[in-house]
Amino acid sequence: MISYDTLALLAGKSGFSAWSPLDPGSIVCRKEVRDACAQNACGQYGKRWSCPPGCGSLEECARRIKGCTYGILVQTIGELEDEFDGEAMMETEALHKAHFLNMFSALRERNGHILALGAGCCTRCTVCSYPDAPCRFPEEVVSSMEAYGMLVLQVCRDNGLTYYYGSHKIAYTGCFLL
Ligand code: SF4
Repeated sequence: MISYDTLALLAGKSGFSAWSPLDPGSIVCRKEVRDACAQNACGQYGKRWSCPPGCGSLEECARRIKGCTYGILVQTIGELEDEFDGEAMMETEALHKAHFLNMFSALRERNGHILALGAGCCTRCTVCSYPDAPCRFPEEVVSSMEAYGMLVLQVCRDNGLTYYYGSHKIAYTGCFLL
């Protein structure tokens, strides 16, 4: 079993700005968040195994979370010139993705089962096999926290991690559950 101290060490080495222990029992899978996915604002609904409905029903997602006993929340925080600084937002998002993949890869080398939930859909393959063939890399899929029905603000708040750092900063959040 990987200790939380080791998780925290890996989070720092992977490039994240902030992290905190995550209690799986604090996570609520909300229908309203899943319903918001169905509005398809990101254009990925029904396009990838990582996203609803391909990632499973809300009940299945909740069952997977329940099968985990501990975890870590991780964040990449970027500086913005102002609240409309889209370029810095995209740069921070790309950095977060890179940090997340660093840590996911390090964790997979040490542990069999990891539930990795990031910010955004799985981009492991340029073109996802959904829905015609099974996922090509089921051990490497990254769904978003929202796809699992999580309200990220609530999960951060209930686990002692700041969610909003003011109008001149942006934070991207993800988590690993073991
Ligand atoms: S690993 Fe590839 S096939 Fe599987 S969900 Fe991600 S993009 Fe789709």
